[in-house]
Amino acid sequence: MSFIELGLRAEILRAIAEEGYTEPTPIQAKAIPAVLAGRDLMAAAQTGTGKTAGFTLPILQLLSTRPARQRGKPRVLVLTPTRELAAQVEESVRTYGRFLPLKTALVFGGVGMAPQVKALKAGVDILVATPGRLLDHVGQKTADLSAVEILVLDEADRMLDMGFIHDIRKVLALLPQQKQTLLFSATFSDEIRGLTNGLLRDPQLVEVAPRNATADLVSQRVYPVDKARKRELLIKLIDDHHWHQVLVFTRTKHGANTLAEKLDKAGISAAAIHGNKSQNARTRALADFKNLKLNVLVATDIAARGLDIDQLPHVVNFELPNVPEDYVHRIGRTGRAGSSGHAVSLVCVDEHGLLRDIERLLKRPIEKLVVPGFEPDPSIRPEPIENGKRSQGQRSGQRGGRQGGQRQGNQPKAGAPRPQGKPPQRGTPARGNSARHHSGSRGR
Ligand code: AMP
Repeated sequence: MSFIELGLRAEILRAIAEEGYTEPTPIQAKAIPAVLAGRDLMAAAQTGTGKTAGFTLPILQLLSTRPARQRGKPRVLVLTPTRELAAQVEESVRTYGRFLPLKTALVFGGVGMAPQVKALKAGVDILVATPGRLLDHVGQKTADLSAVEILVLDEADRMLDMGFIHDIRKVLALLPQQKQTLLFSATFSDEIRGLTNGLLRDPQLVEVAPRNATADLVSQRVYPVDKARKRELLIKLIDDHHWHQVLVFTRTKHGANTLAEKLDKAGISAAAIHGNKSQNARTRALADFKNLKLNVLVATDIAARGLDIDQLPHVVNFELPNVPEDYVHRIGRTGRAGSSGHAVSLVCVDEHGLLRDIERLLKRPIEKLVVPGFEPDPSIRPEPIENGKRSQGQRSGQRGGRQGGQRQGNQPKAGAPRPQGKPPQRGTPARGNSARHHSGSRGR
């Protein structure tokens, strides 16, 4: 199956050829014909599968081949859970649609309304938005959804996890009855089914293998190490292997900040990206990371959702996630759409239960490698990680819903041993900065 066989018009084919795409991904091969045929869609597909082009390409085709209901009003509404995802979807729409005379606008919270109002006033064909800010615009009559022909709910499960159900329902009430609806979700919970009842008409179901099936493209490795020495080991790995673009996951925002600061101090340019950062800071950090001014981006799970960084070579789990599925989400940041990648996890004794859960989900063990000089101290006893209660006041992944009630196989057993390990060792052995390889990097 080729893009030409899918019947896409020349302007779109030209744009995707310029992106270097030679053939559709499985989700695209399934979704594109269904959308072109006007069908509603219920697609189980995660970021990394090529789903954005899966809905964007046929939408561009449909819009450019049929007249608008009302000129100037949005014809397509794409709702996403996060600002980052919204920005990335809009960028994809502009990229794939650059040889077509269609206008896009991007609307999300945390930034000023004025530029968005200006863009909306200028006339929009495709509007990409997060739900809350979109409703603000509707409230002040700067967005009019009465002419929407196609609705896309992207990462619908995440939107529900993040508590957007009421906002989504309000938005739905503003849309014409007669429309085509495309829903993308990693999971199909009862909540999702509740949302889709009455919304989707005879939807075409599209499913592609979740990303863990593509994990063959991602080489995975676990480095057993004591908790107190993780940072030191990370610096060594980055140095020794000359990693220049590394996405590092921590469990908490505070952990992300601290690690980014320490890496920066050690001469590795790094920034943290998480929900407490201003939108501008997040956008800047992502841009600097993409163009290699930053070697390391330290992120929490929620901040990393939807980050689209082409061919990201390295993902590091500084801490394992509490929810095994998040591991798959994380390593899906690398080895995307055909490129190979490396995912590395620094695992201390407290995390062995989490690791077992992940290996159970993957249905195979992950290779373990002890770095000489970083052998775990056998006298350190585990402090099992209790889901969501590991650090005070910090919910794992900063989101509720799904994982809140999810029990993990690693819950502490009654009478589990208390930690009696050595106090954390501070400081790193003397190491020169001469080995650093990040030309053009700068501290932040
Ligand atoms: P998505 O799942 O939409 O986030 O897309 C994941 C990545 O795959 C993005 O970086 C796209 O640029 C890339 N991509 C999408 N479609 C294709 C394709 N047909 N061939 C190669 N790369 C693609």
